[in-house]
Amino acid sequence: MTDLPQAIDIREVGPRDGLQAEAPVDSAARAILVDALVSTGLRRIEVAAFVSPRAVPSMAGAEEVLAAVRRVPGVEMVALVPNVRGAVAAKEAEVDALTVTISASPTYNERNVRMTVEESVAEVRAIRDAVGDQLEVDAVVSCAFGSPYEGDLAPADVGRLGEQLLRAGATSLTFADTTGMATPRRVAELVEVVGTAPGLHLHETRGTGLVNAYAAMQLGVTRFDTSVGGLGGSPFAAGAAGNLATEDLVHLCDDLGVSTGVDLDALLEVCDVVADMIGRPVPSRVAAAGPRSRLAT
Ligand code: ZN
Repeated sequence: MTDLPQAIDIREVGPRDGLQAEAPVDSAARAILVDALVSTGLRRIEVAAFVSPRAVPSMAGAEEVLAAVRRVPGVEMVALVPNVRGAVAAKEAEVDALTVTISASPTYNERNVRMTVEESVAEVRAIRDAVGDQLEVDAVVSCAFGSPYEGDLAPADVGRLGEQLLRAGATSLTFADTTGMATPRRVAELVEVVGTAPGLHLHETRGTGLVNAYAAMQLGVTRFDTSVGGLGGSPFAAGAAGNLATEDLVHLCDDLGVSTGVDLDALLEVCDVVADMIGRPVPSRVAAAGPRSRLAT
């Protein structure tokens, strides 16, 4: 148990990455979900995507979500933007930070944002120019651990794309296992190339999300994207359901003595709200079984 960090930072992506994969939920209910997540202690939440509502109907009404959420000092409201138009709209809606997704897989990038990887890097530069220095721009490199189209990607190539994005004006990086192809061995290989500053966005597609997070923490990684209830997935990657669940990571960290700042019991109550919202139980394990500390009554 040596070498674990004292604390980690969780970026909750459920209201965006999670609900994007679901039937549309109205913006007022999404704002209430964000407020509930803030009340659990989460301090960075991806709340919306400024994308075409025709392309992604479940993300319509980003402005309304941002206008309705309660602003709490110290809590960052983050929005995903695919392009300059989205970035300008997000800035007008007074978001605190942006995420921009670029895929390490050329084919996935074409299908996801209809741009080449080079065009996406140029778009990050244009976004930075459009929003100025006040907003953080986190570049999320998707398919960082493999592509459903090109297979395994060399960590050196993935790391090089990260460097290009920082040069283009991204203020931080996150490497995403969009396709659920990461394993602890591959996490270690990428961290060796990119270091421990970038965040990781892990999926449970093949049941390796939590063990990958544990391996990453042992290597010194302290930033993780997770989704309440384990919601999420990508419509462009077959079978890529399920982000690492926030409560599964918080539950593990509580037992390891790694601080997350999140109240697990409060978070599990939010899971019930999410289950009502999507009309079925959430997929996370801790939400289903309850925390190990909970006794039968
Ligand atoms: Zn995801």
